[in-house]
Amino acid sequence: MKTLYFDFAASSPVDKRVFRVMRPYFENIFASPGAVHSCGQKAMAAVDEARGKIAKTIGAQFGEIIFTGSATEANNLALRGAVGAYLRKSAAEPKDFIRANHQPRLIISAIEHDSVLETTRSLAQENKIELVIIPASRQGFVNLNQLKSSLNNRTILVSIIFAQNEIGSIQPIAEVSKIVKNFRDSKLPAAYPLVHTDAVQAFQFLDCDVNELGVDLMTLSGHKIYGPKGAGALYVNSKLQAPNDKQIENSNDKNSKTWDLEFGTWDLPKLIKPILAGGGQEFGLRSGTENVPAIVGLAKAVELADACRLKESARIYRLRYLFWHELKKIFPKLRLNGPLKIKNGDSFSSGFLPSILNVSFPGYLNEDLILRFDLAGISVSSGSACASRSTKPSPVLKAIGLSEKIIQSSLRFSFGRTLTEVDIKEALRRLAKIFAD
Ligand code: PLP
Repeated sequence: MKTLYFDFAASSPVDKRVFRVMRPYFENIFASPGAVHSCGQKAMAAVDEARGKIAKTIGAQFGEIIFTGSATEANNLALRGAVGAYLRKSAAEPKDFIRANHQPRLIISAIEHDSVLETTRSLAQENKIELVIIPASRQGFVNLNQLKSSLNNRTILVSIIFAQNEIGSIQPIAEVSKIVKNFRDSKLPAAYPLVHTDAVQAFQFLDCDVNELGVDLMTLSGHKIYGPKGAGALYVNSKLQAPNDKQIENSNDKNSKTWDLEFGTWDLPKLIKPILAGGGQEFGLRSGTENVPAIVGLAKAVELADACRLKESARIYRLRYLFWHELKKIFPKLRLNGPLKIKNGDSFSSGFLPSILNVSFPGYLNEDLILRFDLAGISVSSGSACASRSTKPSPVLKAIGLSEKIIQSSLRFSFGRTLTEVDIKEALRRLAKIFAD
């Protein structure tokens, strides 16, 4: 029996083309990119090429891409890094920070991924920040009026997820950036408040040009876009960083490229503090030997996703519509979580990813259904990848106002590149059998 996988939002298979370009960096070009010898230089050239490719795709500069070990780490770097830099700077130069002894404010939405929610919660528990959480509507849209009214002269960062991983709602990030950037308070240094977005789920389907979005920080992940696991990246606006002393010392070194041209401004305050101490790789922002195969794979996955975005989105929309429409016939009480309706010919203007269908099966428990579906060869999750083994109700579904009962009966079907119409029909046949028994 063929396994029918409906959990692409949790993780996707590595595309063969991605695997192919990664392979030599396991077998032959395995040296540390930090090494001076030619093997090391080859590895560094691959990292540089990958950085350049990703930067180009999202409209960034070469030195604005920081490779990390996951999107979780990238989110931690953005949030902890911004808070760490602010606290360090405000302690060193209190005159520039009128309210130096007051806590900085971080604003996030109630529907962030755990890697943002839990990081900011722990920063608040450590008494480093005041955390403000903006609610979302029943359909999963963040209340922008509330965001506007929550900005104050202590707000150093706003982090709003681009496309929600459980329900698929898309936030108008360019508008968010505009609201935040229009809020200027002379009591804060000019760069604040920073805008961060987690674009992990969005990248596959939406243009993530950082200039159009107006963001300062943006997170990407490899394994949601048919790249490898353990590969993440953080876009850091070059105005927010400055090279560390080591890089300045090395700037005449032939390996250090044209820092002055590519890195942007040197003398602006460093607004992101590294969260790992060590050898100062990744422009001093992420120590640790670069994971060259993963970085090369991430860049290839980014390139492929960018190239097939429109066509693939339309294809997946059709599959999801067919699935929803037919599943409703099989299980008439089926309830959509997030969007109110799914229409034929939906487009992104409807504000939802084509790939995510979160539904409730009233009268059933999701954990039982996952097992029954699995026995029938259908892989599906109850929500976010990290929470899928936990029995606590999804905070995202709670945040959009669903009852505990509905949450306990909800499942997320997420659609992806390897699914075909034949697979959808076969899944529906198996599901019909399950609900007929
Ligand atoms: N952000 C979002 C929106 C996600 O969906 C995920 C994965 O579920 C992550 C972050 C974390 O990604 P990674 O597994 O690369 O840490």
